[in-house]
Amino acid sequence: MGGGVIGVTTAYWLAKTGHEVQVLERHGSVGEETSFQNGALLAPGHSQSWAAPGALWTLVKSVFQKDPALRFRFSSDPQFWRWAMKFLANCSAEDYRANTLRVLRCMIAGLAELRALSAETGVGYNGNDHGILYLFRSVRSFNERQGDWTLLRDHGLKLEEADAERCVSIEPVLGPVKHLIGGGFFSPEESAGDAFVFTRGLAEHCRAMGVSFAFNTTVRAIECHGGRARAVHTDNGAFSGDAYLMALGPYSPILLRPIGLNLPIWPVKGYTASIPIDGHAGAPKVGIIEEDNLVAFANLGDTLRVGGKAEFTGYDTSFSEADFRGVMAVSRELFPDAGDYSRPRYWACLRPVSAGGPPILGETSITNLFLNIGHGAAGWTEGCATARAVADIMNGRKPDLDMEGLRLSDL
Ligand SMILES: Cc1cc2nc3c(=O)[nH]c(=O)nc-3n(C[C@H](O)[C@H](O)[C@H](O)COP(=O)(O)OP(=O)(O)OC[C@H]3O[C@@H](n4cnc5c(N)ncnc54)[C@H](O)[C@@H]3O)c2cc1C
Repeated sequence: MGGGVIGVTTAYWLAKTGHEVQVLERHGSVGEETSFQNGALLAPGHSQSWAAPGALWTLVKSVFQKDPALRFRFSSDPQFWRWAMKFLANCSAEDYRANTLRVLRCMIAGLAELRALSAETGVGYNGNDHGILYLFRSVRSFNERQGDWTLLRDHGLKLEEADAERCVSIEPVLGPVKHLIGGGFFSPEESAGDAFVFTRGLAEHCRAMGVSFAFNTTVRAIECHGGRARAVHTDNGAFSGDAYLMALGPYSPILLRPIGLNLPIWPVKGYTASIPIDGHAGAPKVGIIEEDNLVAFANLGDTLRVGGKAEFTGYDTSFSEADFRGVMAVSRELFPDAGDYSRPRYWACLRPVSAGGPPILGETSITNLFLNIGHGAAGWTEGCATARAVADIMNGRKPDLDMEGLRLSDL
């Protein structure tokens, strides 16, 4: 169930290990929702869990900001409050550290698996291996957040601490705005790439391997008896198989709840703009995350992808030009000649955010139903590792990925 980057990559691993696979997807093609136009960064350096000791204070401050990176609208949905209580319970320093290291582990493995899979299959993703620079606007904000990156460096991520001068030598188009930079961390082995291009290409490859795709097919319910899933009911009839995979991204909890699986995953909306570079010389070549306003930049060759914001507005994916004001202001300020700002392609989509941060993978109490969900803001980077691990579990093999803290039974 699900033709996003996660569903398609798992289908690939299942087909490669000899299974007959059918993908059910409500759109007419793959990768048309969250995997369509995301932030495009393959960024283990951004594995910090959102459930952090300062999270509540960040939320309170955002209420008083104009164009805040984080926006919260009151929700009366009891599922939201259940998720929120679990999120807050994960905000201790100890849980933050453990969850961050779990995400880091999935992201490092995911990036390595993506590169290996792409080399093996020839499926591309407009990859850009110039590294990622995590940029701070003041020495103060740089110093305040040092610990978050030191934790990652202490656990295997190659990171260089950079002052403003060094940031400019890493990314020369920052030269004219050097006075706006307080410092940064540079991760030379990270990348950018287009999740949609990859998902579409891998789906073609899967089709050649014998995977079938049922498009325009909306899953309505999962039928279970005697502790096993028996069929998936859709608006196109019922589908049955020996085993079932849940990869419906942010919509997964809605289909799992009626069969007794209450998953702490909530949709958190984000916005991206694709700006045509169109011969302009001022687009950054390295990936950048401006940490004070949480705006991400990824150079995809002919396009600069700019993304940001986290909004709690339920399943609403609507957007208007006004929603992009803050993100575009940061983009124009740092990279005034990045591209043709008069022709942005806007998009909004939902991150499937688990209460603690890590994805939720593998077995459920329904013996032939498996999960690959809850990847939040990291699914593009994590996806190839979590897909391989879940396929291994479905095949009865021990995954190479260390599964500590990633199973439903660990929650
Ligand atoms: C603004 C933004 C920026 C991001 N930036 C990054 C980034 O820079 N790096 C990174 O690693 N990650 C990033 N992410 C996260 C990443 O995009 C997601 O984690 C990932 O795309 C999730 O993939 P998925 O396959 O689980 O979900 P999806 O891509 O949403 O796939 C789920 C599929 O299920 C289908 N579906 C849903 N319900 C039904 C149903 N009832 N019946 C049939 N089909 C159904 C949908 O149509 C969809 O195709 C970002 C996310 C957002 C929102």
